[in-house]
Amino acid sequence: MEILVIGAGVGGLAVARELLAAGHRVRVYEQAPARRTGGKAVLIWSNGTAVLHDLGITLDGAGNRIDRIDALTSDGRLRTGQNIAHTADRFGFETKAIARRDLLERLADGLPDDLVHYGKTCERMTQDGDRVTATFDDGSTATGDLLIGADGHHSIVRRHLWGEGTVHPATFGTWQGLSPIDIDLTGTHRHLMITGREGACGLMPAGDGLLQWWFDVRWSPADPHPATPLTDLRNRFGHWASPVPEVLAAATDDDLEFFGHHWNKVRRVWGEGRITLLGDAAHTMPPTLGQGANQTLEDAWVLARELVKDDTDPSSRLRAYEKTRYPQISRVSRMAKRNPANWRIPPLIGRLFPETSQTTLLARFSNRLTTPTPRPADDQPPPPHAQPTTEGPSAGRTSRRQG
Ligand SMILES: Cc1cc2nc3c(=O)[nH]c(=O)nc-3n(C[C@H](O)[C@H](O)[C@H](O)COP(=O)(O)OP(=O)(O)OC[C@H]3O[C@@H](n4cnc5c(N)ncnc54)[C@H](O)[C@@H]3O)c2cc1C
Repeated sequence: MEILVIGAGVGGLAVARELLAAGHRVRVYEQAPARRTGGKAVLIWSNGTAVLHDLGITLDGAGNRIDRIDALTSDGRLRTGQNIAHTADRFGFETKAIARRDLLERLADGLPDDLVHYGKTCERMTQDGDRVTATFDDGSTATGDLLIGADGHHSIVRRHLWGEGTVHPATFGTWQGLSPIDIDLTGTHRHLMITGREGACGLMPAGDGLLQWWFDVRWSPADPHPATPLTDLRNRFGHWASPVPEVLAAATDDDLEFFGHHWNKVRRVWGEGRITLLGDAAHTMPPTLGQGANQTLEDAWVLARELVKDDTDPSSRLRAYEKTRYPQISRVSRMAKRNPANWRIPPLIGRLFPETSQTTLLARFSNRLTTPTPRPADDQPPPPHAQPTTEGPSAGRTSRRQG
């Protein structure tokens, strides 16, 4: 089939790779003039690294493995701790913090040079019988059998399908940076989540001497941006326990980037006819669980497997993909809406639950983040790396977990 993909972010590149590998003809249209280099770092959990593995992509030599996530109070006491290394061992895939530019580079590596058409902003689309046509801001058009809207949380494709006003602000916003901050934590595999009355702070070593740091504060789109945001952050969080003051002292205004959190209610059927959505276009959510990009990779994995199936009506395959993804993605999206700044588990309660039980809970929770896919029919090839179980991209595709 001839497939048009709008957007060359994590989802657009991942699905293009999957579809090319399955033998489809794919063209990707991206509004930016070149591949994105900003966006700081993201956490790719076991479910995301599993999909990347299936795409033939390794994160070796990029980013930093995360082995623990510790939740602290603002005065430095441990609320809870989770052993991510154990979860990675159970699923057979690591959790990694990686600069978004490096992730995009790995996703683009080896793709045909002319696959992505940069500087093409999609403005509208029409369906006519068996064909879909996208029209771009320069007046040019592209026509294919299917169109995938992987154009992020402001998605024009979603607005075409759902109308305006379906994505809403979600109470908090993030000030973040990815900087060479020379504190002990930067050289470790330990990720800290610190919460207090003033908001939340995340500190994640991202490799190459870089620390991804962020502060979640209450936010509404009507709020004016502070004139001196870093000074505001220092005033608000500077009295928290070490290493927060050290991070704030080392950060510079040039490092700062702001994202208001947004959320949309996930629809059971999110596409129409020969058009579907993928990634944030279908399920914008706050970055609270660090699952947005991971769930986007899961979308790409499931969609490509649906489109391999022999069917005279490709639009029914798109609906099958949406139906398969709905249970997990609606659950993850609802959970992500609850910001950790509100999760102030008292240290005493944290101590009542030993780390082993928290780690077991995390492993169970991780299992629920990945999409189970039906066992392949006897006459169809199994997905690559699949074990003979009814499992999704991470769960069950690992010999260690089964062993
Ligand atoms: C502060 C923050 C921290 C995050 N941290 C994490 C994390 O730790 N882990 C995690 O898994 N996720 C994280 N996320 C979420 C993650 O970034 C997104 O879920 C992920 O990037 C979604 O991928 P996507 O391909 O759907 O959209 P995007 O990556 O946004 O890509 C969409 C692409 O479409 C292009 N585009 C948009 N409109 C058009 C148009 N009209 N025509 C052509 N092209 C268009 C855009 O330029 C862009 O390149 C975070 C998000 C934020 C805001």
